Formats: sequence, C-alpha cells, structure tokens
Amino acid sequence: MIRAYTITSGKGGTGKTTVTANLGVALAQYGRETCVVDTDIGLANLGLVLGLSETPVTLNEVLTGEAPIQDAIYEGPYGLMVVPGGLSLQRFQDVDPERLKDVVRDLTDICDFLLLDAPAGIGPDAVLALTAADEVILVVNPEIASIVDAIKVRVLTETVGGTPGGAILNRAALEKSNTNQRRIERALGVSIIGSIPEDPSVREASAARMPVVVRSPASKSSKAFRRVAASLAAIP
Ligand code: ADP
Ligand code: MG
Repeated sequence: MIRAYTITSGKGGTGKTTVTANLGVALAQYGRETCVVDTDIGLANLGLVLGLSETPVTLNEVLTGEAPIQDAIYEGPYGLMVVPGGLSLQRFQDVDPERLKDVVRDLTDICDFLLLDAPAGIGPDAVLALTAADEVILVVNPEIASIVDAIKVRVLTETVGGTPGGAILNRAALEKSNTNQRRIERALGVSIIGSIPEDPSVREASAARMPVVVRSPASKSSKAFRRVAASLAAIP
C-alpha cells in the first residue's frame, strides 16, 4: 500500500497546503496514524493552517542537523502529527535538503500515512520533494495555467525517477461535468483521484486558522475531503 505522498502542483496557490491539512485530518479522523510535513521550507504555512502557534523546533532544524525529528512533531486536530516548517528565512542556506529522505523514512516507521506539503514550482527544493515519497499527487485547479504547469511537474516527476500517482481537482465548479474531468485527466496523463469544490467555508476556516473538515464538517468541501481520504485508506 502507498503510504507516503508528496502533495504538489506547478503553479502556486492551487491549494496544496489546504489539501495536505484537510486530507491529513480526515485520515486521522478515520483512525489512521497520519503525519503531515511542511517541506515548503521557504514559505512554510502548514502549521498555521492547522492552528499551531508555538513551534520552536521545525523541519528546518531537523534538516540542518540541530534537532532530531521527534522534537519537530506537534499534535494537530484528532491526533494528527504535524511537522511544521520554519517561518524564518535566516537559516535557509544551512538546510541540507537531502536529509528529507531520512525524515520520510523515520516518519513512515511511526505513521500509516505521510503527506508532504511541497513547494510550488520546479526549484531544487520542489524537485527534491518529488522523489521523497512513494507517489506524487498533483493539486490542480480547473484552469489552463494550472493544468499546463501540472503537466510539466508530472513530466519532471518521471524524469527525476518519482511516481505520479494521481491528481486532485481543487476549486472545482459543481456544475462542471464528468466530461470536463476526463478531458483534464487526459491532458494531465494521470487520473483524478478526487475533486474538491470551490467553497467559501475553506477560506473562512483558514481565516480562523482551522482546517475546514474541523470547522465546518458538514460543508461540501469537507465531505469531498473525507471521500478522498476514505479512498486513500481503502475505507468503503
Ligand atoms: P498552496 O499551498 O498551493 O499555495 P493554499 O492551500 O494556501 O495553496 O490555498 C490558497 C488559497 O486558496 C487559500 O486562501 C485557501 O483558503 C484558498 N482555497 C484553497 N482551496 C479552496 C477551495 N476548495 N475553495 C475555496 N478556497 C480555497
Ligand atoms: Mg502552500
């Protein structure tokens, strides 16, 4: 069973952090030991979205060799394990990104599922994340720029030896048909494993620094996140 996923995109702002946080919480709600890691070392915000405030040790200190991974794990909603990224840019140069693979190995020892929130784009840190997990999940919006960039990342994933595992269509319009989804799948070259609607509850939740599945569990986006989590965890 695939257990470690890198959640990425090409274009920024497609919803990687939102998807990582909410899928992580939904998997934890289903009783799966789940860990989410902010590998967006430069622009870390996964911890914020999950409501963490005091995080003196982050992934950055682990990647610089200053702290063991155990010290960078914080408890999120429903027992979700959260490894936040550092908010300070100061030490960015001292980070050894190659250590990320050790982090993934250590965490897969203690988790059923591991989700890595990846940086956007195709810089060295983004590329590294593509091979750090078992599979890569592309978060795309139903717009041409997002799809074109995701195709590049899918090709890049294969080039560097990673495995594209599927895509999540985020901010989808409810009225858009299955034909539209199939067209996007054909363009991307991977199947869409879930579709999350555009939902104002998502923005309201992030303003309240909570994942939407916690703040508005009955919302249509929360139901969609739980469906994707159930399918990853093979829950009928
Ligand atoms: P990324 O991590 O890819 O940069 P974020 O997860 O930070 O993207 O999302 C970018 C913005 O879009 C945030 O303000 C978030 O609240 C909003 N957003 C993400 N998904 C949805 C959605 N399904 N419906 C409405 N707003 C969304
Ligand atoms: Mg993000």
